[in-house]
Amino acid sequence: MTSSISKFYEKNLDERLKVVRELANLDLEEISSLKKYAALDFDTANRMIENVIGTTQLPVGIATNFIINGKEVLVPMALEEPSVVAAASKAAGNARASGGFQAKADEPVMIGQIQLINIKDLNLAARSINEKKKEILDLANSKDPTLVSFGGGAKDLETRILTHNGKQMLVVHLYVDVRDAMGANAVNTMAEAIAPMLEEISGGKVCLRILSNLATRRIVKAKAVWKKDEIGEDAVEGVLNAYSLAVIDPYRAATHNKGIMNGIDAVVIATGNDWRAVEAGAHAYASIDGRYKPLTKYYKDRNGDLVGEIELPMAVGLVGGATKTHPIAKIAVKILGVKTSKELAEVIAAVGLAQNFAALRALSTEGIQKGHMKLHSRNIAVTAGAVDDEIEAVAKVISDESKVNVARAKEVLEELRAKKQ
Ligand code: NAD
Repeated sequence: MTSSISKFYEKNLDERLKVVRELANLDLEEISSLKKYAALDFDTANRMIENVIGTTQLPVGIATNFIINGKEVLVPMALEEPSVVAAASKAAGNARASGGFQAKADEPVMIGQIQLINIKDLNLAARSINEKKKEILDLANSKDPTLVSFGGGAKDLETRILTHNGKQMLVVHLYVDVRDAMGANAVNTMAEAIAPMLEEISGGKVCLRILSNLATRRIVKAKAVWKKDEIGEDAVEGVLNAYSLAVIDPYRAATHNKGIMNGIDAVVIATGNDWRAVEAGAHAYASIDGRYKPLTKYYKDRNGDLVGEIELPMAVGLVGGATKTHPIAKIAVKILGVKTSKELAEVIAAVGLAQNFAALRALSTEGIQKGHMKLHSRNIAVTAGAVDDEIEAVAKVISDESKVNVARAKEVLEELRAKKQ
């Protein structure tokens, strides 16, 4: 067996499948599963990435009950984990009594970084670059007239002098308003275009030219109030206690933020956006002051109601990348009813906050396993070999018994099948 396959990318689908089938010992049923396409057909998928042999599907669920900035919103969420959609819907339902979520996104400004090395006088180079700012921005903008026509484009730049192992470098930050795009390609194109000019001005040598995923100029914030009469005082206190641990302990903060990303990633994926970019930005932002911290915060207002807030970078778009090529992504955007990348960011922040509140409330009161395992019991039933009607039947028994494990599911399945015979 070798993974070094000559010109795999030049082979057609059947040829690729034949190679993989032989190397990985796939049977005909497995090949036929790989050949099943849903809305994303082979040709589209094959244009999106390289060496395509199939597609994979995730469930898309609708989170209900969301009111965001006074608007009723249906939220499509794509993910594999049970109970996330239910939890978001429940948290959003509990926030309705106080009008739902208020969210506000910054203008969609991304940062492109150009790293300059081997500069003799860094301060002089920085000054010269700042003096030539207009020419540099004009050159950047000449690369994307479409973006400029929508009111976007390179708007500003800054210089930073950084040192590593005694070596100094100059890093130029190019600030680009990317309007309704996520913006990575747009920014990278501009960063590459201005690099030779920066070399000339600084007398240095360019190394990296790429956007930063720590999009600190593209922050989104959302807020909601959960009334104590709606959720109970125990829940208010429980969430506050749970939040305290996340503030002081990165072991907890990581899981706290993972719960936030359950909601955020699901919407990012459903809309065809780059969830790695959003993840990278979120976690870098969580540790921006040197210590990893929660992306949400909670406190009690004067009425004793629970206030939750979230704040993180949100680089998502409605044009570019896969957002307009993936057929389900286009439908997800239509369901959301958002018209700008800022509105999409606001929805996503609200979902992240709802998800986090739901997790903290469940964790600090009844625990999450009760609800989670009930939903997870179906997966366990399938793992144990249940099919069709057997799935619900087995899931119910193991869930009622609170024995949501494969061994028990197998026993129940055997008993069920024995009874049928
Ligand atoms: P893109 O280049 O496909 O589309 C953006 C372009 O669309 C703009 O440059 C503009 O010319 C045009 N456009 C048309 N209408 C517009 C409007 N209303 N608002 C803004 N632009 C409009 O995509 P992109 O958003 O620049 O890049 C996103 C892709 O880059 C994603 O697929 C991402 O995965 C990928 N990427 C990410 C990274 C990273 O995150 N580090 C690095 C490289 C590439």
